[in-house]
Amino acid sequence: MQQNIQQHRVIVIGAGYTGASAAGRLARRLRREDVSITLVNAEADFVERVRMHQLAVGQDLRPRPFDEMFAGTGVRLRLGKVTGIDVDGRTVSVTAPEGTGGPEALSYDTLVYALGSAWSTHAVPGAAEHAHDIAGRPGALRLRERLAAVAPGTPVVVVGGGLTGVEAATELAETRPDLDVALVARGALGDWLSPKGARHLRKVFTDLRITAHEHADVTAVHADRVTTTEGDVPAAITVWTTGFAVHPIARATTLETGDTGQIVVDATMRSTSHPDVYAIGDAALVAGPGGKPLRMSCASGIPTAWQAADAIAARLTGTKLPTTAPRYFNQCVSLGRKEGLIQYVTADDRAVSAALTGRVAALYKELVCKGAAWGVANPTMGLPTRRRRVTTEPARMKVAAEAA
Ligand SMILES: Cc1cc2nc3c(=O)[nH]c(=O)nc-3n(C[C@H](O)[C@H](O)[C@H](O)COP(=O)(O)OP(=O)(O)OC[C@H]3O[C@@H](n4cnc5c(N)ncnc54)[C@H](O)[C@@H]3O)c2cc1C
Repeated sequence: MQQNIQQHRVIVIGAGYTGASAAGRLARRLRREDVSITLVNAEADFVERVRMHQLAVGQDLRPRPFDEMFAGTGVRLRLGKVTGIDVDGRTVSVTAPEGTGGPEALSYDTLVYALGSAWSTHAVPGAAEHAHDIAGRPGALRLRERLAAVAPGTPVVVVGGGLTGVEAATELAETRPDLDVALVARGALGDWLSPKGARHLRKVFTDLRITAHEHADVTAVHADRVTTTEGDVPAAITVWTTGFAVHPIARATTLETGDTGQIVVDATMRSTSHPDVYAIGDAALVAGPGGKPLRMSCASGIPTAWQAADAIAARLTGTKLPTTAPRYFNQCVSLGRKEGLIQYVTADDRAVSAALTGRVAALYKELVCKGAAWGVANPTMGLPTRRRRVTTEPARMKVAAEAA
């Protein structure tokens, strides 16, 4: 497609759940003659990150190549790794496809930053050397290979009692009942859930013969064990799930970032320091209901993508800004393929007494995962398309004027 000189150039970096959703939504909102949308990603396929524990235990995930997903949408794909951003000069440095020369600087008028996050070892000694992560595909595939090679009775320890930890431990124990699976949690198992939800989680752990080491902090990881504040736990394989950390790219710029390195944004996901930059998903520091920062999740991340896309479209076309604030409804937890837990929550993510359990909950969670991937894989379907003209005033000037 020929780029028109007057086109407003939107670059979306990161094509995970949020970046891909934002690019697709922008394509639905804006006329191709007026706006070019480039989606930059390090990998050629969409990765269903919420299924990395499934990939790690040997399940095969459906391939979702971006060139098929975005065919005919007008979104240009640029495969490459983002290595830096000059937010003052408005360029993104992207590695060139293999064998085609050095990095390229792509210029933008509006940048959507959606690089997501990776695992965080929290600097616990030995974790980086000995533990496995399931925060992304490379880590999950390494763990998959390791699990395939171990003998029955091998002790496997999942560190972290949050959503990812309980999903990983139950998936492992269900698929590999021959292994000796344990989980180490800083607090009590499922202490963020309602009494009904926590009871159900304990029941599933008992049924799957997972040992829970509660109220224990891991202080070191070794090749054959983890050391905790309550003593050592044998671990031929350690799976680390204690939380995510964002990539350092944003922090290396003049963008305003929080202590976590996430980009500070307003209610429209626009950077508080650079009005032509938007941040979404795990990479954004967003105040949720009650001012509490949204946690890194698809549940809150995908709405931030919609919000950013709608806000960019509104600002470019002179229409009304979106006002729907992201909020929580439930936490959908898979506990293997046959069991699940849907914990209903307040707008700011605190458990209420209602929870759905059992096979129905497993099915519900599966539908949620499928729905999220479907939304990303079908970027121009679902909502009605309403492509509007960019206002005659040059968009870049308009954004700058608004910021003043
Ligand atoms: C095992 C697991 C289970 C989870 N379960 C749930 C769940 O049940 N519910 C829930 O709400 N959340 C869950 N999450 C969290 C959820 O996956 C993330 O919050 C979500 O993926 C964040 O979306 P994102 O678009 O911000 O980032 P990502 O989905 O991580 O996408 C980031 C994209 O940027 C690309 N990228 C990164 N760096 C670069 C670079 N330098 N250059 C180019 N491209 C780059 C990546 O390849 C990727 O495509 C789970 C996470 C894990 C790991």
